[in-house]
Amino acid sequence: MSNAFVFLLAGKLVENVVIIGSGPAGYTAAIYAARANLKPVVFEGYQVGGVPGGQLMTTTEVENFPGFPDGITGPDLMDRMRRQAERWGAELFQEDVEHIDVRSNPFTIQSSEREVKCHSVIFATGATAKRLRLPREDEFWSRGISACAICDGASPLFKGQVLAVVGGGDTATEEAIYLTKYARHVHLLVRRDQLRASKAMQDRVYNNPNITLHFNTEAVDVVSNTKGQMSGILTRRIDTGEESVLEAKGLFYGIGHSPNSQLLQGQVELDSSGYVLVEEGTAKTSVEGVFAAGDVQDHEWRQAVTAAGSGCIAALSVERYLVRNDLLVEFHQPQTEEVKKELTDRDIQEGFDITLTKHKGQYALRKLYHESPRLICVLYTSPTCGPCRTLKPILSKVIDEFDQNVHFIEIDIEEDPEIAEAAGIMGTPCVQFFKNKEMLRTVSGVKMKREYREFIEANK
Ligand SMILES: Cc1cc2nc3c(=O)[nH]c(=O)nc-3n(C[C@H](O)[C@H](O)[C@H](O)COP(=O)(O)OP(=O)(O)OC[C@H]3O[C@@H](n4cnc5c(N)ncnc54)[C@H](O)[C@@H]3O)c2cc1C
Repeated sequence: MSNAFVFLLAGKLVENVVIIGSGPAGYTAAIYAARANLKPVVFEGYQVGGVPGGQLMTTTEVENFPGFPDGITGPDLMDRMRRQAERWGAELFQEDVEHIDVRSNPFTIQSSEREVKCHSVIFATGATAKRLRLPREDEFWSRGISACAICDGASPLFKGQVLAVVGGGDTATEEAIYLTKYARHVHLLVRRDQLRASKAMQDRVYNNPNITLHFNTEAVDVVSNTKGQMSGILTRRIDTGEESVLEAKGLFYGIGHSPNSQLLQGQVELDSSGYVLVEEGTAKTSVEGVFAAGDVQDHEWRQAVTAAGSGCIAALSVERYLVRNDLLVEFHQPQTEEVKKELTDRDIQEGFDITLTKHKGQYALRKLYHESPRLICVLYTSPTCGPCRTLKPILSKVIDEFDQNVHFIEIDIEEDPEIAEAAGIMGTPCVQFFKNKEMLRTVSGVKMKREYREFIEANK
């Protein structure tokens, strides 16, 4: 009897391997597992623990990933890894895993939309930016406070303003330098009396006249003006306790990350900070068949290339594990594969036609706002915003489900800053819905697919 029949459980196939996470670790594991004909199932995530593509979706140039002598943007690098995994047959789902059970094999993986049984798991859920938990943080989140300079720095709210960044490591210094492209001036608030960032980053900060360093200084809260807009930051000197208000229209967090290991709590050994413990030099966790790769198990190196390397080790370990336990079922790709193409900008920009569903730019928005009887969905993006790239195909698929009942317009806030300002856009991605010249709802960031779907269904 073939293995394929053996590994049916209550009529359901037991997968060789499920990979959770789509950063450099998850995609590299997917490429290797797919090349080994394991047909990995990959949960790329959606909004828990970051965005599909992982942390590099929030950065501009990656200059140190081998093979790109002229550098590559983070989102481009992740697009390439994704396509490579897909090309070799990885099955990708843009869904968050909500529950896993690795107490008995086959393991169970429960996502927001499906349950999968599998013989092995590669856990590559990375890490998430930490928050300061200031008293007014929730009130000003995305209205002045941000954890992603690359995503939000170009928004009208911050352009030409005085801004502040909290932190003294590589993340904070990179954010501060990036923000000087748009801001009038940037203050860097550092709790210690020195920077922790690499020497190269320190030099770039010290040599930048648009950055002022404030050592021994912490942010206590944000303060607002009479219009309820953020106008400054209440700071405290660590050494003297003296408090003062620093004028700033934006506060960016660059204070590090926490491992996304909550799903494994109580099932696999973690260290005191929540990092998954692996046997040194391997991807093996305390449970046989469960492997971990990337930043979720690495508090020391935390680089794209080290994450990718550990993803490779994890996939090769899975293959050995499946062979050793006679569990491996091989899948072979069909020879020809139809490549599905997204609508290109050119397709969309070939002239305004109200009968088309998808449009771009402020001209289309103005026309549709006045003339369309349909529900109008406007997506505001910016060129360097990684989460925007995540949201675009997701929203595009939801819009396809409601073709002829909805109009969709993408606005690049760098190309059309005045329209973004008029719409009160404070960060990207941001979605607004209009009908009969009335704004119905604003949705900031990347939300669950069903949230957009349900709103369109109810208002179309
Ligand atoms: C601003 C910034 C700039 C950086 N620049 C560089 C650089 O230039 N060079 C470099 O080498 N490194 C850089 N790094 C570090 C690098 O990005 C990380 O080391 C690397 O991304 C870690 O990869 P990873 O695959 O472990 O995890 P991540 O990239 O964190 O990806 C984790 C993935 O897991 C998914 N996920 C989480 N929870 C779930 C869940 N419950 N269900 C499904 N999926 C889930 C997330 O959606 C995400 O896709 C930078 C990091 C930052 C923040």
